[in-house]
Amino acid sequence: MTPKALPPALRYDGVSEAYMKLTFRGAAGEVTGSMHQLEVDGKQYLLDCGLAQGRRKEADRKNRHLPVNAASISAVLLSHAHIDHSGNLPTLVKNGFSGPIYTTPATIDLCDAMLRDTAHIQEKDAEFVNKRVEKRRREGHANGPEPVEPLFTMEDAERTLPLFRPVGYCTPTVLDPHLSYECYDAGHILGSSSLLVNYHNNGAHVRLAYSGDLGRPNLPITRPPEALPPAQYLIMESTYGGRFHKSAEHVTAKLRDVVNRTCARGGRIIVPAFAVGRTQQLVLLLHELANAGRIPSIPIFVDSPLAIDVTAVFRKHAECFNAETRQYLLDGEDPFGFGRLQYVREAGESKKLNDLHGPFIVISASGMCEQGRILHHLRNNLADPRNTVLITGFQAQDTLGRKLVEKMREVRVFGEPITVRAEISSLDELSGHADQGELMAWLKTQAEHLKQIFLVHGEPAQSQALADVIRSQYGVEVAIPSPGQSFWLRNI
Ligand SMILES: [Zn+2]
Repeated sequence: MTPKALPPALRYDGVSEAYMKLTFRGAAGEVTGSMHQLEVDGKQYLLDCGLAQGRRKEADRKNRHLPVNAASISAVLLSHAHIDHSGNLPTLVKNGFSGPIYTTPATIDLCDAMLRDTAHIQEKDAEFVNKRVEKRRREGHANGPEPVEPLFTMEDAERTLPLFRPVGYCTPTVLDPHLSYECYDAGHILGSSSLLVNYHNNGAHVRLAYSGDLGRPNLPITRPPEALPPAQYLIMESTYGGRFHKSAEHVTAKLRDVVNRTCARGGRIIVPAFAVGRTQQLVLLLHELANAGRIPSIPIFVDSPLAIDVTAVFRKHAECFNAETRQYLLDGEDPFGFGRLQYVREAGESKKLNDLHGPFIVISASGMCEQGRILHHLRNNLADPRNTVLITGFQAQDTLGRKLVEKMREVRVFGEPITVRAEISSLDELSGHADQGELMAWLKTQAEHLKQIFLVHGEPAQSQALADVIRSQYGVEVAIPSPGQSFWLRNI
């Protein structure tokens, strides 16, 4: 429901009123496709422009049909590089957006690698489908699927990249005479940020905070999330709003045990991991375990061209590391490279891994097992009980990764059924998202100033659990918006 437009200079009892209109366009009632629209002084802004993921057809429909008029958007404020936050920017550009995209320098470098990679996947997927369509037609089938166009092309991605504008943490960026914003370290992935949007008019102020994706203290590489200055409104993620993680401190011991157990069986360890963040964390932890002689001397492969490019970006942005990882560098160690580790770029080399004997570890993308080389490794290794699939991150509903976590006995890979006999293990401790306790701790300094919190980026049960605990502990009004729902944010 869209509220009626307000006149531009409303006054209550002599106090000027300022307001912004906030409309939830994505990640409302679900985790992926982050996109929030802000209207201020007749201009439109987007906070994030991510890809929807999950059920293929539905996600494709959402990604192709943008819920906003792209040409009318003045600027995008991007929280971080993950594809569910940045991945639909080329579609926005394809549909007429030509304004600036503000974000941190590390996020810009990550997006360069990731948007090109996504464009490449979109082009390849469309080519694959179209070849099958063509073949059916040649075989004389009159009815069948229609040819498809890629969601966006490399050209669209390359037209997007020059629109990025770097912003430093804690430095105000002026968007319009009455509007500015600042970003703060969200501790989620390299370059990730929480945002604070400031609107002031006639002495009246409206401040809207957006958590972005919030990280956690004690994670490898990243710093803990920073507290934000006071705001009246907050859009907050709730991925794990109803859960408590195990402490990140136990992660090394758990990883050591999984590696040792699988090696004792003579099996392989297949690790689906997000190319950004999770892969580099795992490499760092394996590096430490190998240095300490706590895991056997087995080969470790990072089999993902994107992860290789992204690791190069990590090396370039040591300014984003926590103190421990910076010390590693100062000690002359490369946190992301060591003797037993090989980065695999070429597809031919990736295929050869299947013929390799003896235990080894392969870290590959995509993290939710939806596409990429990990699918080949799963197809070749899921049915062998000696092997382990080590899940290392959040798995959205209806993804292959989620089916594995839920211990389904049979799954489909490339359309073929496979009986799952490999051990399925989860390294939840590495989650890049704050749990309920960590979200509440981050919120503590904000809570007394807030008029309303909007919970996004969560499955309904998780958002609801967080809403309940926020209301009872902090007494703040909480909404769980649905897609398309609008709110007026006022200073009064
Ligand atoms: Zn994220």
